[in-house]
Amino acid sequence: MKKLWMWLGLLLWCGTIQADDRPPNFIVIFCDDLGYGDLGCFGHPTIATPHLDQMAAEGQRWTQFYVAAPVCTPSRAGLMTGRLPVRSGLCSPKRRVLFPDSAGGLPDSEITIAEALKGAGYATGMVGKWHLGHLPQFLPHRHGFDQWFGVPYSNDMDRNQKGPKGWDALLDPKYEYWDVPLHRNDEVIEQPTDQRTITRRYGDEAVRFIDAHKEEPFFLYLAHSMPHVPLFRSDRFIDRSQRGFYGDVIEELDASVGKVLDAVRSRGLSENTIVIFTSDNGPWLEYGDMGGSAGLLRAGKGTTFEGGMRVPTIIWWPGTAKPEVVTDPGATLDLLHTFCSLASVQLPTDRIYDGSDLSGRIRGTGPSPRNSVFYYRGDVLYALRSGPWKMHFRSRPRSGAKETIHKTPLLYHLEHDPSEKKDLAKKHPDIIERLKAVAEAHTATLKPVENQMIKVLHE
Ligand code: MG
Repeated sequence: MKKLWMWLGLLLWCGTIQADDRPPNFIVIFCDDLGYGDLGCFGHPTIATPHLDQMAAEGQRWTQFYVAAPVCTPSRAGLMTGRLPVRSGLCSPKRRVLFPDSAGGLPDSEITIAEALKGAGYATGMVGKWHLGHLPQFLPHRHGFDQWFGVPYSNDMDRNQKGPKGWDALLDPKYEYWDVPLHRNDEVIEQPTDQRTITRRYGDEAVRFIDAHKEEPFFLYLAHSMPHVPLFRSDRFIDRSQRGFYGDVIEELDASVGKVLDAVRSRGLSENTIVIFTSDNGPWLEYGDMGGSAGLLRAGKGTTFEGGMRVPTIIWWPGTAKPEVVTDPGATLDLLHTFCSLASVQLPTDRIYDGSDLSGRIRGTGPSPRNSVFYYRGDVLYALRSGPWKMHFRSRPRSGAKETIHKTPLLYHLEHDPSEKKDLAKKHPDIIERLKAVAEAHTATLKPVENQMIKVLHE
């Protein structure tokens, strides 16, 4: 069914597009565990990010942009499919996709951004961390990517016995402590991956992809492994940042972004290429200096406070996206819709989507259509945002901490109080009732058949 839909898409697209109507290229640069407060242009006082700062100055800095979940796998599933992970089944906290000994992955029935664009004649490439299933049937080139160079899961997995126990290996990391495989499509070309050079090599591979496909529409998904612990950087960046080791890692990522943007500019592709820079979830605060910062936002990775799911986001499209700070809400869930809209791709109508088309807001022709955000941990709805209001049914103060179920939900006005400090529930019972109705309407859309996917993948 999915393959038929892709071929139909390609036929329709070929019939309607004119030779001089080449649709834009898309590049998504996705960091791992980068916090809201970790970039110069998002307020960090000592991490130097000149390339990202310039990208933000030339493009749009989105200050209320969200991911689909506060941890890696479900966040990536949401980005790739435009659907909340509770629909695709990639939402369980169990050991299903997260670890090398698990057997699950992104179901074939899901349609990724790569598959949707491939149906419109795009070249599709992925560089970096996948983490949507490491078995052969789940790898990126089974989900619409023509090519993949990268690692199948997080860089702290496949840990061996060569390093010290516990956190010590993470606080003084050597790449030999982890047997993470580096793939080129099905083939493992290096194991353990020399993570010291991984950011540089991802950037080089991204530039090679751009060069190889500059004459045709392309989609490049560049999913960095950094700054997820264990941290690594290449020799040129050691002891370079005023912020220390973590700052070195971010400054190398910044240089990599500069390299990709330079490639786009120098090949004359700037005005026909949208580059989106963002992160998969908030900073891993538990690692202290080895983790990032959520800036003024509360908490970090693994939580449904803003620090866990609001991410620093820059959208760059010279000549089309007017340089500005955008305070409208947006989400990685919206990228599939936005790209399909810009590439004139029709999405199938046989499933529920959770994304919206941001292309009007990017072009400056109208507001973002997104008005709500749903904050899940696993398959449980912890909180929701509607307009400026956010209500928490449950919360955890930090990743791994015990959850609190709030008998009276917590209520914050995020635009007055982005740090979620002042609970206004007692003052606004009417808003609590209104948000409860929004939550009920949302949960009513979770079809039993979609939830069954969770059970299938557990087996
Ligand atoms: Mg992550």
